[in-house]
Formats: sequence, structure tokens, C-alpha cells
Amino acid sequence: TTADNDAPTIFDKIIAKEIPSTIVYEDEKVLAFRDISPQAPVHVLLIPKIRDGLTQLGKAEPRHSEILGHLLYAAKVVAEKEGIADGFRVVINNGPDACQSVYHLHLHILGGRQMKWPPG
Ligand code: 5GP
Repeated sequence: TTADNDAPTIFDKIIAKEIPSTIVYEDEKVLAFRDISPQAPVHVLLIPKIRDGLTQLGKAEPRHSEILGHLLYAAKVVAEKEGIADGFRVVINNGPDACQSVYHLHLHILGGRQMKWPPG
């Protein structure tokens, strides 16, 4: 793990509520809030409150299995709460080639419009 990978991100400030965000779901382990630059009528980011080395999915270790499963289940709960359960997309951008910009694992939950495939 490099120093870079351990650097705090903007999401730490969102978790600490030091910068404002519109929170749509929260439990003891995860936080969901609206993306500041929405790419669909519904665009929510879902993150673990404790990063624990999960800067990106590609850094996952066996110990992360539980939180990874919890995040995926929470994505479904968020989709239901947002009224997009009939059609939504969950995206994880991993690394520069996938346009990851914040190095704290996050799921994008997108919906409210017809999605395209392939995403490009
Ligand atoms: P990535 O490109 O890493 O997969 O996604 C990072 C996402 O975080 C982007 O969609 C970006 O719009 C969002 N984002 C970056 N900074 C902030 C912020 O300060 N507040 C919120 N709500 N979203 C942010």
C-alpha cells in the first residue's frame, strides 16, 4: 500500500459531515448520498463508512467480503427507496482506465432514465 492509497479523500469529509451532502440512506456500516454531478435523474453514491484499505475494488482482500456483500444489498435497498427498483444500474469504476477519481470504494447507483449498453 502506497502513501497515496492511504490519503484521505473527500468522502471522509462527507462521512464526518464536514462538507454537506444529501444523504439518502445510512446504516452503521454504509452511507449513501447524491452524486454532486448526477449522470441520471437518480445518481447515488454508496460507500463503506470505514475504508479499511478499500481504496478501490481491486484492493479487496478476503476480510472485505462481508462489507462488499453488505454494500451490494444496500444498493438494492437504496434503489427501492429511490423508486427505481424496476430498472437501475450499479457501477464500480476501478482505477484510472475506468475513470475512478475518488479512492474510497463507492458504488454508483443510477436510474430514472433508459440506460445504454455498452456504457462506453
Ligand atoms: P468515480 O469517478 O471515482 O467513480 O466517482 C466519483 C464520484 O464522486 C463522481 O461521480 C463525482 O461526481 C462524485 N463526487 C466528487 N466529489 C464529490 C462531492 O464533494 N460530493 C458529492 N456528493 N459527490 C462528489
